[in-house]
Amino acid sequence: MSPKRPLPEVDRVAASRAAVAARRARAAVKADIAAGKRRPLEVLAAATAEPEGIEGRLRITDFLLSIPAIGRTKLGRILEELQISPAKRLGGLGRHQRVRLEEFLHNREAATRPGGSRLIVVAGPTAVGKGTVVSYIQEHYPQIQLSVSATTREPRPGETHGVDYYFVDDAEFDSLIENRQLLEYATVHKVHRYGTPRGPIDEALARGTSVILEIDIQGARQVKEIMPEATLVFLLPPSWDELVRRLVGRGTESPEEQQRRLDTAQTEMAAQDEFDFRIINADVAEAAAEVVDLIQVRGSGSRSVAPAESN
Ligand code: 5GP
Repeated sequence: MSPKRPLPEVDRVAASRAAVAARRARAAVKADIAAGKRRPLEVLAAATAEPEGIEGRLRITDFLLSIPAIGRTKLGRILEELQISPAKRLGGLGRHQRVRLEEFLHNREAATRPGGSRLIVVAGPTAVGKGTVVSYIQEHYPQIQLSVSATTREPRPGETHGVDYYFVDDAEFDSLIENRQLLEYATVHKVHRYGTPRGPIDEALARGTSVILEIDIQGARQVKEIMPEATLVFLLPPSWDELVRRLVGRGTESPEEQQRRLDTAQTEMAAQDEFDFRIINADVAEAAAEVVDLIQVRGSGSRSVAPAESN
């Protein structure tokens, strides 16, 4: 065996020139993504087509950080969510990782398209009337799609499977989680699990239809992490006394359940500053119109409702 010969000087110079050129080309790709000149999805497609090309050699961390509004904190959470190691390069992603990344980019793109579809999350304390406001929107603004959640709780009288909720058992809920079919999920009021099916939302946003989610605060936080462009609306009661009156008045819960929900409501009220907008639900039609306004007005860049002060 002959000993490995050192690279001749000319080759070393050529190799380091090539490395510098490749680094520059990768930096140009990142700059283009940051400036909105290239779509992240298109860059990913190029990386997939040519894993050893410029795009393929781009680190997943550099790629994501070049996307506007993704910083280091979000980066960690996104990689965790997508189950991708920070050491990976775009061309070296596994098939499932690539599919998850595509889905993530797709959601972002749909949510950021100017004048395009929006994802609005309506949350707020229990009994504030989220359900009523959202039903009103569904009836009067049919162009907006309402997300139907999955839950492990029993149907109440008058509730229909597939309309009010997808009523599933624990095993089915577990399988929705395992198959990554939920955008977010949480245990609400410490008892039942609720989750937002991902598929219908992706489809609606891709078609240009805006979607409203009526979910709890834990779920709203998760959505904001996954899709930072989602608009978070916090629905407020006119007063705490009014909230208690509404909860007790609807008479659908036992006294123990009412107490548990009031305890949750107190914690929930404290989360209002995390939301983009706060709307007081004194009149259902007015509150609904304000929510719809956010969807329509945000497309043109202005805001009709006072944004929450601290965010
Ligand atoms: P209810 O049992 O009264 O229909 O709903 C209880 C709570 O679960 C409400 O606060 C509602 O917003 C919340 N919820 C309904 N669907 C979902 C969901 O898909 N995800 C989360 N995180 N919360 C939900």
